[in-house]
Amino acid sequence: MELTADTLDLTLTTPFRIARSVQHVAHNVLVQLEADGVVGMGEAAPSGFYGEKRESVLTALTYFADHLGDDPTLIEDIAHTLNRVLRGNAAAKAALDMALYDLVGKRLGAPLYQLLGLNPAHAPHTSFTIGMDTPDEMARRALLARDYPILKIKVGGRNDLETVRAIRDVTDATLRVDANCAWTAKEALRMIERLAPYRIEFVEQPVAPGDLEGLRFVRDRSPLPIIADESCVTLDDIPQMVGRVDGICIKLMKCGGVSHALKMIHTARAHHLKVMLGCMIESSLAITAAAHLSPLVDYADLDGALLVNDDPFVGVQVEQGRLLLPDGAGLGVRRRARQPTIASGRTGRQRIARSGQATPALPARAASADESEGPEVEE
Ligand code: MG
Repeated sequence: MELTADTLDLTLTTPFRIARSVQHVAHNVLVQLEADGVVGMGEAAPSGFYGEKRESVLTALTYFADHLGDDPTLIEDIAHTLNRVLRGNAAAKAALDMALYDLVGKRLGAPLYQLLGLNPAHAPHTSFTIGMDTPDEMARRALLARDYPILKIKVGGRNDLETVRAIRDVTDATLRVDANCAWTAKEALRMIERLAPYRIEFVEQPVAPGDLEGLRFVRDRSPLPIIADESCVTLDDIPQMVGRVDGICIKLMKCGGVSHALKMIHTARAHHLKVMLGCMIESSLAITAAAHLSPLVDYADLDGALLVNDDPFVGVQVEQGRLLLPDGAGLGVRRRARQPTIASGRTGRQRIARSGQATPALPARAASADESEGPEVEE
């Protein structure tokens, strides 16, 4: 198989602020895998919070390029090999994994959800995320998002109660809140008790990722369900979530791709945990890969492509929050019309790796004014 990689910058429609960082541009990587004239596409959305950035993705891909073999149908074998070559690097692995599914689906002429035996009518509605800002501004954005029946509100700042009250004043939408690790367990409980009267569906990641006893403390006392995101990254994390949370948030970019996410979904089910599918700031390419799995889950938070103004792909459609899976072969994603190149004006298109003749990774670029204020990028 032949592997090529390109940079892909996505510009947020409004700066995306969460409890620990603000993001203006997502510095993603597009991969293409070619076998026998068929091309599969994948995307990496690296997060500094999980130890990845664009440069590390490009470097990992140069290592992986020589270990892909010639048979794209051997997805489990390839995943096993890549884990042996390099630990971690989940976003880089997710890009390759979804490209393999895209390639195999195109070869067989079937959409991914069909290969997995899933019913697209069972796809849940996605939430639409309101990043942190002043309560008035967040309420204004909630009003603008009136087409979405589920809103996810980023909390963990100084005005959480005022924010939720202001948003509840302007909408009857289902509301979820995500604290992105901002609270101690006692702070979390105090806030959750105050937020509960505003009809909140659940609370995502109230405490620090490693504070498992804090999760248990909150969950034992909370009037609202608790969902783990940063505390639950891969399959290995699931057993210790039992009794500490009500559900987990799975992201392709945390766990390493479609094949790993499938294992997580079924393992979580076996432990009677609710399952949410989440995302980073991603184009419709990676969002669509996750959306194909969504008929298996309880909640979807697949709005990454809705938050950018230069999505170069068309895939899953969102109609009033409903996820409409594409029925094209593989991921069913195509390039948006009138988009002359994948890259936007500020992005160079560069091939970095080709199986059998891997080239050195690109040198790390100096951070521009558009870089995130912090390294953490988390939806
Ligand atoms: Mg989250």
